[in-house]
Amino acid sequence: MVDCKLFDQRLQGQPHLKVYPRKQHCISRKNISPNALKVMARLREAGYQGYLVGGAVRDLLLGGHPKDFDVATDATPEQVHALFRNSRLIGRRFRIVHVTFGREVIEVTTFRGHHDSDPDGDDATPDSHRSRQSDKGLLLRDNVYGTLEEDAVRRDLTVNALYYDAANFTVYDHVHGMRDLRKQSVCIIGDPEQRYREDPVRMLRVARFAAKLDFGIDRGTARAIPDCAHLLGEIPPARLFDEFLKLFMSGYAERTMDKLLELDLLRYLFPESDHAMRRNPQAMALVRAAMHSTDQRIQSGKPVTPAFLLAALLWPVVRELWQQLQTRGEPPAAALHSAGQQVIQATLRQISIPRRFSLPMREIWEFQPRLQRQRKPQEMIQNRRFRAAYDFLLLREAAGEDAGGSGAWWTEQQELPEHQNLPIIHGTDEDEHADRGRRRRRPPRKRRPAQNA
Ligand code: ATP
Ligand code: MG
Repeated sequence: MVDCKLFDQRLQGQPHLKVYPRKQHCISRKNISPNALKVMARLREAGYQGYLVGGAVRDLLLGGHPKDFDVATDATPEQVHALFRNSRLIGRRFRIVHVTFGREVIEVTTFRGHHDSDPDGDDATPDSHRSRQSDKGLLLRDNVYGTLEEDAVRRDLTVNALYYDAANFTVYDHVHGMRDLRKQSVCIIGDPEQRYREDPVRMLRVARFAAKLDFGIDRGTARAIPDCAHLLGEIPPARLFDEFLKLFMSGYAERTMDKLLELDLLRYLFPESDHAMRRNPQAMALVRAAMHSTDQRIQSGKPVTPAFLLAALLWPVVRELWQQLQTRGEPPAAALHSAGQQVIQATLRQISIPRRFSLPMREIWEFQPRLQRQRKPQEMIQNRRFRAAYDFLLLREAAGEDAGGSGAWWTEQQELPEHQNLPIIHGTDEDEHADRGRRRRRPPRKRRPAQNA
C-alpha cells in the first residue's frame, strides 16, 4: 500500500500540484495493460515510486486506447534493471529500461532532474549520470535524475506530463495538463523558445499532437516556432527519420502534414517536396492522396510501408528532374534512374532513409513508365513490386497526372482470369513475338485520364 501520509508531506511546497482523486477523472485500471500494472506494483513493493505517465495517461483521460504504456519511477535504470529479469537497459541520450512481456514492452524511465543543476566541474558524478548541452542550448545528453515534479516540467507538452498512481487511483498534475486537455490545447511546458532550443524536435511534436488529438495550439507555443524552426537543421538525419515515422505512420498523416505546412516545418524534413507542393497543386494532391490512403489502411488494419509515402512525397521532385534530364537528351529509363538517385542523395542530407525503404521507393518510380507502356501483363502482375507501383499509378492519375489511362487498363488486367490478358497496345515486335499464342480480345476502349481528385 502506498503511504499516503508520506506522499502528502511530499506534496507540501509544491504549489502548482493538482491532485485528482478517482472521482474526478475517468481512468479505470481495467483499461491499463496488466503488464504495466505489474511493473508499477513490483516497483512499489521494492520501495520505489511507479506511475503511469505520458501518452497513456493522456489517451486514457481522453477515453482512448493507448498504444503503449510508459512508467516513470524514482529508481535508477540500474535499479529497475535489477528488479526485472525480463528487462534491458537501452539508450545513451536517455537511458531507459525496457521490460518485455512477450510482444509488449513497458518502457520505464527514471525521473529526470533539472539539467541546470548539473555540476559542471570535474567531480565524482559519472558522465552517464549527467546532462550536456551544446553552446546553443541543445540537450546532448540528459541523465540527471530528479523528483516527480522535476520530471514533469522536463516533459514536452502539458497534456503529456500527467502521472497516474495505480495504487491510489490518483492523477498528479504539476503543469495544468488537465486544464489543457479540457481546453483541447497543445501547450509546451515552460518557456517555448528555451524548450525548442533544448530540443527542436519538440516543434515537430507540437504539430504531431495537434494533428493526432485534433487540438488547437497554444498561442505562445505556436508563436515561438518561426524563430526556432531553423534549429531543426541541427538534428541528426537518423533522429528526423524516427520522427518522420511517428509523424506519418500513426494514422494521422494527412492532418499532420497540414499542420506541418501551416507551421512551415515541412521544409526542414523535405525542402524540395515542400517547395513543389506549395507551387504545384498536382503535387499537393498526390502527396495528400498518399497520406489519406496510408491513414485509411492503418485504420482498417492493413499493412503500410513508409516507402510508399516517401515515394509520393518525393515524386513531384523526381518527376521534374526526370523531365529536365530527358530534355537534355538522356534516354527515359536512364534519366528516371538518375533523377531518383539524385533526389534521394539530396534528401539524405536532411533526413535519413534506410536502404530498405529507398530501394522499394526507386522501384515504385521506375515501374511507372513500364506500367504506362501497358506491356507483359502477366509478368508485371507477378512482380512483387507491382501492387505498390499500381496503387501509386492510380494515385498519380487521381491527382490529375496524365498516365494515358493506364491505371484503368491495369485494373482490368487484374480482373481477368490469368490466361485472358488483354492484347498489347503499345508493344514492340519483340513483345508481339513473346505474346504470340496468347488468347486475344478486342482492345479496351481507351479511357480519358482521371480528373483531378
Ligand atoms: P504516442 O501515443 O504517440 O506514443 P506519447 O506521448 O507516448 O505519444 P512518445 O514519443 O512515446 O509520445 O513519448 C513519451 C513521453 O515522453 C511523452 O508523453 C513526453 O512526456 C515525453 N517526451 C517524449 N519526447 C520528448 C521530448 N523531445 N522532450 C520532452 N519530453 C518528451
Ligand atoms: Mg508513447
